[in-house]
Amino acid sequence: MLALCCIALVMTAPVPVYASGDVSGVRFGQNGDTTRFVIELSGDTKPAIFLLADPYRIVIDLPEVNWRGGDAVRSTGLVEGYRHGLFTGGTYRIVLDLKSPAIVSNAFSLPATSGKGKRYVVDIKPSNRTEFIAAVASSKPQRSRYAAKVEKGPAVSNSRRKDGKHIIVLDPGHGGIDPGNLGAIGVHEKVITLKIARAIRDELNKSGRYEVHLTRDRDIFHKVRERFRIARRHNADLFISIHADSINNPRVKGGSVYNLSETASDKEAERLAARENKSDVLAGVNLDVVEDEVSGILIDLAQRETMNYSAQFAELLVAEMGGSVPMLDRAHRYANLGVLKAPDVPSVLLEVGYLTNLTNARFFNSKKGQALIAQSTRRAIDQYFSKIVGQGR
Ligand SMILES: [Zn+2]
Repeated sequence: MLALCCIALVMTAPVPVYASGDVSGVRFGQNGDTTRFVIELSGDTKPAIFLLADPYRIVIDLPEVNWRGGDAVRSTGLVEGYRHGLFTGGTYRIVLDLKSPAIVSNAFSLPATSGKGKRYVVDIKPSNRTEFIAAVASSKPQRSRYAAKVEKGPAVSNSRRKDGKHIIVLDPGHGGIDPGNLGAIGVHEKVITLKIARAIRDELNKSGRYEVHLTRDRDIFHKVRERFRIARRHNADLFISIHADSINNPRVKGGSVYNLSETASDKEAERLAARENKSDVLAGVNLDVVEDEVSGILIDLAQRETMNYSAQFAELLVAEMGGSVPMLDRAHRYANLGVLKAPDVPSVLLEVGYLTNLTNARFFNSKKGQALIAQSTRRAIDQYFSKIVGQGR
């Protein structure tokens, strides 16, 4: 009986993911033409290592670890830069961006010695494109060693809620291995977007009229498409992806709201879409798997209705935000943003402003700023359901 009971518990309870060890530091070294990358690890982990092309990257997956190393480590030699962070529940990922094609010539563990802990060493040597592409193919089986444990959202029934609450899914942009841009106050976009999403959630929950879900409520990465899939699994009535922009002019400030369009409304919108859509590349996602369940859907009637609702909500959000948050001129914009491609969930991407502007960045990082954004968003959502959806649907 006891055994049966435990099995049932294991199957139904959410499975918490525990870190399997610590990374206490990383370092780079150069010996002749070989670049050495060393990971100081507490456990007996054997990383999964694979290569991805265009751009040239080496991806190192570990089971979920606590990162205790600093971030001031400079890359050298063949490695232009690196990122690290939670990729999915259970997988901690390090991505090395290469200056030119280079392959792993050696990878091995070193036991702890007096004064030094366990280490994992990755040696990288210069190569050419042909050899690199062959290495991408031969390393492919490694891709799923840890990353197969993709964190799936909760199973949601297809029936709409019976209590009449509207379902809102908030999507804090970036996360985990994809930090987003770094602002004028030294706080990454992924941190700011999560704070704002939580503030909006709390504001909506206070009203009692909404059921609110976040695509992430911790520092974890989701693929662009997974974000709107979460909204679809929840049967969302509205999906809001939250971001904070960056530009190399620190004086530029102000928020904007984006809808999906195949063609961008202006050059800046086009550049923004290129930046935001790059998330999967930054995170070392294998892009050669085409998962285009919504291709060609833009001409579909359902999609047209969704886009119409999305545009009306964007107008309301621009108007309401404008009352308390500085907005750009022509703040309602269009761009080909991957995260807005749910065919049946009205969706907008809210750029709250520019993290590269000191005033904007301090505002987003303050409780007061987050509360003002949350209240404006709640007012826009209230109006959307009372005026637009209430009449049209
Ligand atoms: Zn962003």
